[in-house]
This record gives sequence, structure tokens and C-alpha cells, in this order.
Amino acid sequence: DFARSKSLSQQRQYLPIYTVRDDLLQVVRENQVVVVVGETGSGKTTQLTQYLHEDGYTTTGVVGCTQPRRVAAMSVAKRVSEEMETELGDKVGYAIRFEDVTCSSTIIKYMTDGVLLRETLKDADLDKYRVIVMDEAHERSLNTDVLFGILKKVVARRRDFKLIVTSATLNADKFSKFFGGVPVFNIPGRTFPVNILFSKTPCEDYVEAAVKQAMTIHITSGPGDILIFMTGQEEIEATCYALAERMEQLISSSTKNVPKLSILPIYSQLPADLQAKIFQKAEEGTRKCIVATNIAETSLTVDGIFYVIDTGYGKMKVYNPRMGMDALQVFPCSRAAADQRAGRAGRTGPGTCYRLFTESAYQNEMLPNPVPEIQRTNLGNVVLLLKSLKVENLLDFDFMDPPPQENILNSMYQLWVLGALNNVGGLTEIGWKMVEFPLDPTLAKMLLMGEKLDCLDEVLTIVSMLSVPSVFFRPKDRAEESDAAREKFFVPESDHLTLLNVYLQWKSNQYRGDWCNDHFLHVKGLRKAREVRSQLLDILKALKIPLTSCHMEWDVVRKAICSAYFHNSARLKGIGEYVNCRNGMPCHLHPSSALYGLGYTPDYVVYHELVLTTKEYMQCVSAVDPQWLAELGPMFFSVKDTDTSLLDHKKRQKEEKTAMEEEME
Ligand code: ADP
Ligand code: MG
Repeated sequence: DFARSKSLSQQRQYLPIYTVRDDLLQVVRENQVVVVVGETGSGKTTQLTQYLHEDGYTTTGVVGCTQPRRVAAMSVAKRVSEEMETELGDKVGYAIRFEDVTCSSTIIKYMTDGVLLRETLKDADLDKYRVIVMDEAHERSLNTDVLFGILKKVVARRRDFKLIVTSATLNADKFSKFFGGVPVFNIPGRTFPVNILFSKTPCEDYVEAAVKQAMTIHITSGPGDILIFMTGQEEIEATCYALAERMEQLISSSTKNVPKLSILPIYSQLPADLQAKIFQKAEEGTRKCIVATNIAETSLTVDGIFYVIDTGYGKMKVYNPRMGMDALQVFPCSRAAADQRAGRAGRTGPGTCYRLFTESAYQNEMLPNPVPEIQRTNLGNVVLLLKSLKVENLLDFDFMDPPPQENILNSMYQLWVLGALNNVGGLTEIGWKMVEFPLDPTLAKMLLMGEKLDCLDEVLTIVSMLSVPSVFFRPKDRAEESDAAREKFFVPESDHLTLLNVYLQWKSNQYRGDWCNDHFLHVKGLRKAREVRSQLLDILKALKIPLTSCHMEWDVVRKAICSAYFHNSARLKGIGEYVNCRNGMPCHLHPSSALYGLGYTPDYVVYHELVLTTKEYMQCVSAVDPQWLAELGPMFFSVKDTDTSLLDHKKRQKEEKTAMEEEME
């Protein structure tokens, strides 16, 4: 009721950070770098920027605040603009990849850490910022970790610049030490005890277990909202679906009045208007049940949660050496994460956390802290970026926790294969151009190959479509109808060209929304693709790269596609079954692919990514001519025998090439 009865300014004054506002500002005045530690919900993200503004910092520059997650950047900016009674995008704005909601009068800017990282390419000293708040540092996202090293240099070069690092957990000493022993400011907590209940036996199906637990709470426990932690979108949807079903059964079979349950999913790909729903107060007499990914662990705070149900799992992007690429995989979360999750139940009053794992798993199987992303993922983009910032030897960069050398070398190798690095590890002309695009190296390469092969117009559309969530809409109750609609767009042997086809048809139907609905396409996704396309076009224009077209000569486009995916090429092994040309990893055609059910299967394909579900499925596949693979592979970029530093890579490369040639014969 608090949110309804109190004005926004009263709510601000009630936050724990408010009681220490003046001391905090004093410490910031006296120090160039400060680490701020406070419980989730204490007001770090929404208040710090405003305090800095109130203390005059915005008269000489922008106060920037970085977030590891897009959802958080958007939702917090919206909240702060409301608190400051200004329109979002005016004084308070946000920027995430392909979406800049700021203007020249913006003084408080929330952004993803990736956006700020890219800004350092254009302005190494970040002159427009007076203060940067590096928020959620405990998450140790890849980009935040790189920013640590870069901002440390900015701090040394610019006396007038201030940096505040915030963390929700207590192991903030590491951050303090990294900057030479800067002060750590603690925001006193205001939390209530949380009763933690472990599962007696390991649970087999945590979706089912969570649904059961939530229903039990709903029927037998007192008021208070429920928060369930799941690993990702699919599980969240399954959980919400099952909960709705149980509620329906209960209502129809019960003679008593069953209290209402408002079931609310939240994950990063959920449209913004649906995301905002979790913050809205439920109707009188209705209990909220939020089903979330670990986004609700620390980056978003929802008040009124009394019950937490924790599966003990989370999805993490991890480099998989067997596949030679990153894959999102489900892992047990760390003890620190489990404790954070439990803490969500004790913000408004004493709460309960139901852990769907055993106490022994907590003690013996969970790591104390999560492994920083930089130590577990592909570093392709980071390598490109640092190289362009003239960091010649990446092993010399000031990392808080350096990535394993093997990771760096693997990433360099992939960039070399794409032609972005030369034989001595320096950026090539292609590499320099690739840095200009806020895209993964593969997609940047595809664009540049589109330029080379004079089919940029077509490739640009494909890249834009690959940069947004799937545009195909497939409601469970109309699966057949929607599949038939999708099939009408199929271009034989290519999902990439199918995406192009969808976009072109949408365009020839005047980009209409009702046309999308009729064809089972997400209009929001297509609009987003159109926006991405126009932004990439701006970059191409700035680089003076003309928008050439091959007038839909499919094979030319296919060749450009092929050039980006040398690593993801596969050859036919059995029906619908392929193996990766490079490492023999099995990979399968997905039933939703345009290549499925053709009546025959092409010998060689490339794919955009592998998705691990019940099998390793290739996502977005195109048939290619094996000749192109040989032609466009790394040998295409002349290899000089005099270079030595990458000799080993070259050797591996040669072996691979021979293996491929043998395979093709
Ligand atoms: P911290 O960063 O310390 O975790 P925040 O500044 O994010 O804390 O949140 C402080 C309070 O602001 C929350 O308890 C919540 O009440 C409110 N709040 C934050 N974001 C939103 C939002 N998008 N909508 C409504 N309330 C919000
Ligand atoms: Mg926060």
C-alpha cells in the first residue's frame, strides 16, 4: 500500500540510502573513487544519480550510470524520470544497443555497460561525463570488467572525473583494492529475517516443484507476493502456464472463494510494457506471483515480496571448448546468489524462502561466488575493442581477474579466421571496420562481405533481422496455422534468406501491422529490425560504404552469409543430422528450419548458432557450396610465412584446412 498512499518524494525519503545521503555526498566530494555497498532495494541505482545531480555535478557534465542488463537500464531510467517529474528521454534518459533515448539536455543517463564501453572508442577520456556510477559491479559482467580497466585510466588522466562503484554484496574490498585502496561506503541495511527452508531430497522437476510450492503458499499462507526464480524464458512460460492451469482447476472445483493470483513473467526479451507490470500494485485481494530469471536477484527490486521460491539454478553464457563457441547453459547458482535471492523475501517484512535444493547441495555443490563472465566466455568483441584502443598485448591489460590465456588465444584465433586480425595479431583493415559496428564479429564480417560482394542491401537486412528476437509468432493453441504461415515465407535451403524474404514482403506491404498479424509475425520485432537497419545504415554511410544490391541474386547473398560462419559450417552425416566440419560435433536441423522437410538435405550448411535443448540444434541455417568454404576460409586472407607469433594458430589452421579438404573430396 506504501506505493499507493505515499507520494514519490515521500517514498524517496523512506529508502535506507536517504539516511546517509549527506555523509555519502561528503565522501564523494573528498574522493575521486568510492565504492558503495548496500542491500538490494536500498536505493543505490535510483537515488545516487539524483543525489549527485542535487549536489551540482550535472552543471559541468553528465552523470552516467551503467547497468549490466538492458531491462534494468530502461526500467530504472523510467522510474527516475518519474521521480524527477520529467519526461523520459529529456533530463533523464537511457541508452541500450540500438536504442538511444537521450537528448542534448540529458543530465542523468542510464546505459548498459556495453554502450559506455563503445563510447570509449569515440572518446577515450569520456569527457562529457562528470561522474560515472558503475552499478551492479558484483555481477562481474564481461563489459563491466573491461570498463574497470579502462575507467581506472580515465581516473588517472582526469582529475575532475569521479567514479562510483556500487555492489550489492559485501566482497567489495576487491573493488577498493583495484583502485588502490579507495573508501568503501556502507549503506546500513533495513532487512527483516528470512526463514530458509531447504528441500529434503533433490528435486527432479523444478518447474513442477515450484508450481506446487506456489500453489500451497497461495492457498494456505497469509498475504504477501511470491517471487519464483527460474532459469530462462521457456521455463518461465511453462511455469506461468502451469500456474494458470492449476488456478483454473482450483476455481472450477472449489466451492469456496479462491483468492485471485496475478501471474507475471519477467525476462529480458519480454516486451517493455509487460515488464513494467511487475512493479504495478495488484488489485485488492489479489496476490502477485512473479516468475523471473536472475534479473530479479539484484538488478530489479520489487516491493511486497514475502515468499521466494528458488530453484537454485541460473543460465550462464559459457565458452564450450567442444563446440568452440559460447552457449547458454543451466548451472547451479552460487551460494552468494542463493543468499541474494532469499534476501528478496525480507524487504518489506519477515519472509520465507523455499529452496528447491538440499542443504547439502548448498554446502557442497554450490560455488561460494559466481565465476566472472570474463573468465568463461568468448572474448571476440573485447579483443577487437581493446586492439582498437591500442592495447597491443592483451595479457598486459589491467584486468581485475585476467581471463585465462586460452580464452584470449581462442578468441584471437576466431578473429583471425574471420580476417579481422593479421598474422601478428594486429587489426586488419577489415578488423578496423568491424570495430565500428555494435555487432558480434560474425555479423560485422557478414556486412563487410556484403560490401565486397556487392549485396550489402540484402545482407544488411539479414543482419538486422538476426539482431532482434525471432519475428515468428507461434501461439501454442494455433501452432499448425502459424507453422503454415511461416512456411509460405521459406526460401528453399536458407533460413537467412527466409528472414530477408519476410522483411521484403513486409516492406512491400507498407510495413503494416495488420499484415504482420495476418501472417503470424511479431510487428514489434519487425519494427525493431527496421530501426536496427537504419542505425547500421547510418554507420555504413559514415564509413562511406555504398549500399549496393545484387537484386536478390540468392547465391551471391548466400556467399556473403557463408563467409561469416566459417566456424559454424557442418556437413551431412545422416537424415537431418550434421557434424561440425571443424570439430565433428553433432548438430541437428530444427523442425522449424526452411531446410527441414525439403525432401532432401544439402551436403553442406552454415548456421548462426547452436541451441542446446534436448539436442544440439542449429539455429538459422543456410545451405552452402563447399567450394565457398575453402575459398572464403582464412586462406583467403593471405598468410605470410614470415610471421611467427601466430605460428601455432597457423599450424592448427593448416591441419583444419587439410581435414576440410579431405572431407570435401
Ligand atoms: P538498489 O539499486 O539499491 O537495489 P533501487 O534504487 O533500484 O535500489 O530501488 C529502490 C526502490 O525504488 C525500490 O525498493 C522500489 O521501491 C523502487 N523502484 C525501483 N525501480 C522501480 C520501478 N521501475 N518501478 C517502481 N518502483 C521502483
Ligand atoms: Mg540497483
